[in-house]
Amino acid sequence: MPELTAAELLELDRRHVWHPYGPMPGRQEPLVVESASGVRLRLADGSGVPGGGKEPSGPGAPSGPGAAAGPGDPAGPRELIDGMSSWWSAIHGYNHPVLNEAAREQLGRMSHVMFGGLTHEPAVRLAKLLVDMSPEGLEHVFLADSGSVSVEVAVKMCLQYWRSLGRPGKQRLLTWRGGYHGDTWQPMSVCDPEGGMHDLWTGVLHRQVFADPPPAEYDEAYAEQLRSLIERHADELAAVIVEPVVQGAGGMRFHSPAYLRVLREACDAHDVLLVFDEIATGFGRTGALFAAEHAAVTPDVMCVGKALTGGYLTMAATLCTARVADGISRGEVPVLAHGPTFMGNPLAAAVACASIELLLGQDWLAEVKRIESGLRDGLSAASDLPGVKDVRVLGAIGVVQLDHAVDMEAATAAAVREGVWLRPFRDLIYTMPPYVTGDADLARIARAVCAAAREG
Ligand SMILES: *Cc1c(COP(=O)(O)O)cnc(C)c1O
Repeated sequence: MPELTAAELLELDRRHVWHPYGPMPGRQEPLVVESASGVRLRLADGSGVPGGGKEPSGPGAPSGPGAAAGPGDPAGPRELIDGMSSWWSAIHGYNHPVLNEAAREQLGRMSHVMFGGLTHEPAVRLAKLLVDMSPEGLEHVFLADSGSVSVEVAVKMCLQYWRSLGRPGKQRLLTWRGGYHGDTWQPMSVCDPEGGMHDLWTGVLHRQVFADPPPAEYDEAYAEQLRSLIERHADELAAVIVEPVVQGAGGMRFHSPAYLRVLREACDAHDVLLVFDEIATGFGRTGALFAAEHAAVTPDVMCVGKALTGGYLTMAATLCTARVADGISRGEVPVLAHGPTFMGNPLAAAVACASIELLLGQDWLAEVKRIESGLRDGLSAASDLPGVKDVRVLGAIGVVQLDHAVDMEAATAAAVREGVWLRPFRDLIYTMPPYVTGDADLARIARAVCAAAREG
């Protein structure tokens, strides 16, 4: 296939390719990324910029090759600092020599072999790394191919556990509102009922038990609501599933870790399993390797994904305790009946091992704290803007919440003019930059968030 110009590519893209949560044909023109390196996305020649902005970036444009359109070449290639880490995943930035080498090395051995009846070092090493770094008690690892699938597996584990113990009636899930757990059926059923398009799926989705969204600060009345819901539904509940400390795509809300202890105690008291979805929060993002550590709580089942492979390849994992695995193994059907074709993919597993070793081999907490204080400084200016309802920062996550729905196109264009890639949604403009983002680039990201808040 001959190389396509950006215009040809965009035309074919619009006609044939679905994008996340997009219509067909596409209505908004995506930017064409040609390559990425460090914290920068390099756009293809002639790739459109939302809002038609072709002016070079403002003062203090990012330096380095192709940082902004060169003089006399206003539509030339330009680079954007990625404020999104490609949806929480590229924690070490792009084109990282260590991750590249891990992929190349594994590529020379094998990209994939089936996992049924076969095993290999990358998967085994990865499982051991995950067990060692995760909260005490999580011992068994199911390697899945995406976050949503890892949640499906978590739910299957919980339902099967109770079935094995002779309590098949325990098959509902409890969660709090404002969550996001993925786009396949079980995860969708525990996504926020309002943001998660539940109305479209009335009668199709499993009907789960919902508590109110968790307040930011600890509130005893809310804790009591959690306890009494769990007690009341104990006979039909297989598990409670929540995102610990940070609710991501459901609304970028933070809550007191103390609620996790409330859930742990209530689940133990009433024979309900506890699942933490750490797909967004895992691998240091909140200032702890896993958000569960903020409360010193071990869940029965934990999902990880997103940053697992440093943003290189799709892979996720579901970890569980010996109790859950033993329970399943004592059942009439003593196996976990799940086995994706690409389970344990060696290429993804090798990169995941390298990414985890890279993370643990550095003072990652210092980097996350540095980003936290950079975002606090840089985003404080947003508090005074008209239309801004709240500004919050936790770990390497910065959020500006508006009092109205974001004008996506205007907000994105404003960020791009600052030389930064952001992807706002609903009433939220947010960033979770790669941990390798330097201070000057971080300040620029914060300026872009403020600009997007001003113009969105
Ligand atoms: C992104 C996300 C998922 C879904 O992961 P995919 O890899 O997109 O399927 C599930 N839970 C949480 C908390 C997430 O942030």
